[in-house]
Amino acid sequence: MTKWVYCFGDGKAEGRASDRNLLGGKGANLAEMSNLGLPVPPGFTITTEVCTHYFTNGHTYPPELREQVGEALKEVGRATGRRFGDPARLLLVSVRSGARASMPGMMDTVLNLGLNDVTVEALAAESGDPRFAYDSYRRFIQMYSDVVLGLDHDLFEEILADEKGRHGYDVDTEFSAADWRRVIAQYKERVESELGHHFPQEPEEQLLGAIGAVFSSWMTPRAVTYRRLHEIPESWGTAVNVQAMVFGNMGDDSATGVAFTRNPSTGEKSLYGEFLVNAQGEDVVAGIRTPQNLTEAARLEAGSDQPSLEKIMPAAFASFVEIADKLESHYSDMQDLEFTIERGKLWMLQTRSGKRTTKAALKIAVDMANEGLITRGEAVCRIDPASLDQLLHPTIDPNAKRDMFATGLPASPGAATGEIVFSSDEAEEMKGRGHKVILVRVETSPEDIHGMHAAEGILTTRGGMTSHAAVVARGMGKPCVSGAGTIQVDYRAGTMSALGRTFERGEVITIDGSTGQVLNGAVPMTQPAFSGDFSTIMEWADELRRMKVRANAETPADARTARSFGAEGIGLSRTEHMFFDEERIAAMREMILADTSEERRAALAKLLPMQRADFTELFEIMAGLPLTIRLLDPPLHEFLPKTEEEIAEVAAAMGVEAEQLRQRAESLYEFNPMLGHRGCRLAITYPEMAEMQARAIFEAAIEAAQKTGAPVVPEIMVPLVAVASEFSFVKAIIDAAAKEAMNERGVEIEYLVGTMIELPRAALNAGEIAKEAEFFSFGTNDLTQTTFGISRDDASSFLDVYRQKGIIERDPFVTLDEDGVGVLIRLASDNGRAAREAMKLGICGEHGGDPSSIAFCESVGLDYVSCSPFRVPIARLAAAQAACRARLDG
Ligand code: ADP
Ligand code: MG
Ligand code: MG
Repeated sequence: MTKWVYCFGDGKAEGRASDRNLLGGKGANLAEMSNLGLPVPPGFTITTEVCTHYFTNGHTYPPELREQVGEALKEVGRATGRRFGDPARLLLVSVRSGARASMPGMMDTVLNLGLNDVTVEALAAESGDPRFAYDSYRRFIQMYSDVVLGLDHDLFEEILADEKGRHGYDVDTEFSAADWRRVIAQYKERVESELGHHFPQEPEEQLLGAIGAVFSSWMTPRAVTYRRLHEIPESWGTAVNVQAMVFGNMGDDSATGVAFTRNPSTGEKSLYGEFLVNAQGEDVVAGIRTPQNLTEAARLEAGSDQPSLEKIMPAAFASFVEIADKLESHYSDMQDLEFTIERGKLWMLQTRSGKRTTKAALKIAVDMANEGLITRGEAVCRIDPASLDQLLHPTIDPNAKRDMFATGLPASPGAATGEIVFSSDEAEEMKGRGHKVILVRVETSPEDIHGMHAAEGILTTRGGMTSHAAVVARGMGKPCVSGAGTIQVDYRAGTMSALGRTFERGEVITIDGSTGQVLNGAVPMTQPAFSGDFSTIMEWADELRRMKVRANAETPADARTARSFGAEGIGLSRTEHMFFDEERIAAMREMILADTSEERRAALAKLLPMQRADFTELFEIMAGLPLTIRLLDPPLHEFLPKTEEEIAEVAAAMGVEAEQLRQRAESLYEFNPMLGHRGCRLAITYPEMAEMQARAIFEAAIEAAQKTGAPVVPEIMVPLVAVASEFSFVKAIIDAAAKEAMNERGVEIEYLVGTMIELPRAALNAGEIAKEAEFFSFGTNDLTQTTFGISRDDASSFLDVYRQKGIIERDPFVTLDEDGVGVLIRLASDNGRAAREAMKLGICGEHGGDPSSIAFCESVGLDYVSCSPFRVPIARLAAAQAACRARLDG
């Protein structure tokens, strides 16, 4: 026979902490506390399997349940010397929900269940305190009506407030027994007038009603939405805990409270909590009265004149401190505790690991490792890598007032304030005049890079989390809100409007890239601080991880940021942006317009010294660390003017006919540039370009090595290879350039030539490509696009719907798709290594900074991950966690 009910209390339990899946978090921990011999009111847990049974069997319970509940109630009766429903030996219970993962939206707790018009008199007699008994009964009617009968809490609060007003009382502890009786009578009338039947008097009926309400609350829209947002499967179900009542509202020697074993906002090692005298349940959290501090120290610090628990109930306080310590070391984690003191005796009602800020999480992890409670590996695994973002960017002061007029996607974390500008040129110009600006665009394109650089933050009205604006902003570490669709931008008028409000160019706004909010005016910020604990955790992470962490960086500023965040090299340095400079783009366009190879070489000769200077600087900054440079990748039309006006202007500057320029631009037009004339296809059609870039790289490597004294091993990466012969063709150009540069300078240097694996064909054929390629870097942005056949820039219009309808679970551009793209990566890695043992493997897509994708990279055995500079700390931590978990699994 299936066991559906597990008892706890009285120094023992049928379950334990590890039974969380079956008993829910609350039930498992109540069992664990009982096993530890702590004072827990006896009770029992109805398992999550009953919930599952209930929903898969047309809202019915397993047949044996009733009997098992009856047995368990008797057991609780034995432990307490009472009997449920018996006025002579009154046993009252609470009914509490508790899922595996703590879940708001589930049924609230019902306390004092078992009270009715008869038993309330028994309670009054037994306690010798009728006020307490009636207060308990009216609480029960109110809670039960709210959560089981579906009557709004406020219906009862009104009655209470009226009654309070009539007597001129400030707080409900002033009510007399007669006052409470009047309140109860009105409560019951209200139930009858609302529902047309009496408030249930039969204890057993009350209990079944409450249990049913807990299970039903599993399917309320609130709970369903919460599960969807947090990826909690419906099949998990919730458990129900039924527990003997203890009373914190039995007078001035009773109390109820909540506490954290360490400070949840700073992490400081001191008991932190609040309590109320003569109160019950969640009065403390509800803010009905102002709660008092637990400890004298906290009271003094808060400057409160309300006495602490330490002062007024020293004995109960002392046992609480002892229990708190015991629980913290038992669970090896900071605990969030709920307790009640009944006439001086302490009872524990809940323990769980406490929620905390990132700052507190770091301090607690470091302190606990130093105290020997946990290992360094455990400390490293305790920190959510994504939460580090909070520390790396300025954030809006949590106490600041927010005048929000639009929201979009939280595309790149951090907050920024500035004047509105609508074009990149304007952004640059305003910045030059010392203004701080927010660049507002419908969407951004590669031509906006200079504006994005100049701006404090970027706001777009179109595009998703992986739109150009979002990806580039994250790369730059700039706050960005993307896809704020309710904002209308009027470029011509220089205005934007939303929610009936219009903002002009120059007006100040603030964007919060961590929440997606767009706010009016300047808002106070908190600046990032790298605490000692942060550095300590990062040091420990570095000792534990196997994979290296590199950054995607192309400007000297990015490279410096990357190093300051601990990057161990550059995994992707794109070169295209280097040609958008005014001087350079002229030479670039000359090259594009040229008809012959000689003319192209002449134009490229102008670019060579500039390109060499770019690389020399990067090599110098990286001082001997590896640096992967990718040859030119985008289609050439990105470098040509688009509008008639621009064409005329550029033609005049170049001294060519506008017509010639227009024709060339037209001839380069592509229906689908993503799959067009780009990547190594450029190097194959215009080898001069690859030749120049390779030359610049080798000369720079030689120069930088001479300057810094650290040998540079450049890694040259050929983009968008599909067939091995493409790679061989380009590699031959690079090798020739290397030979020439080395001969001219009379030095030998080492270098690697490899490819970005970003097309399925390359992954399928990796063994062949690996015969010549010395490294693979998985370019998972393009590899995801080409594997799915989905254009990243157009995906937001349907991917969100896909997620809502459960077609896909996660955005594959954010979290690597292990079942498809991942299979290609594994295959290419295995075949690449089979063909070349020393094959270096890395990843350089956006996924290189995503913790769960990083865990996948560890499982494949990649040598490194590469991500945007601001994500380097996150990647270092995630790589360490992946290594620790892999060791545990292996
Ligand atoms: P939540 O999950 O919302 O915290 P709980 O089930 O923990 O709900 O109940 C909330 C509060 O109700 C507890 O913190 C405690 O103060 C009170 N409570 C629950 N069960 C009992 C009980 N058996 N005796 C006394 N108080 C209880
Ligand atoms: Mg609650
Ligand atoms: Mg609780």
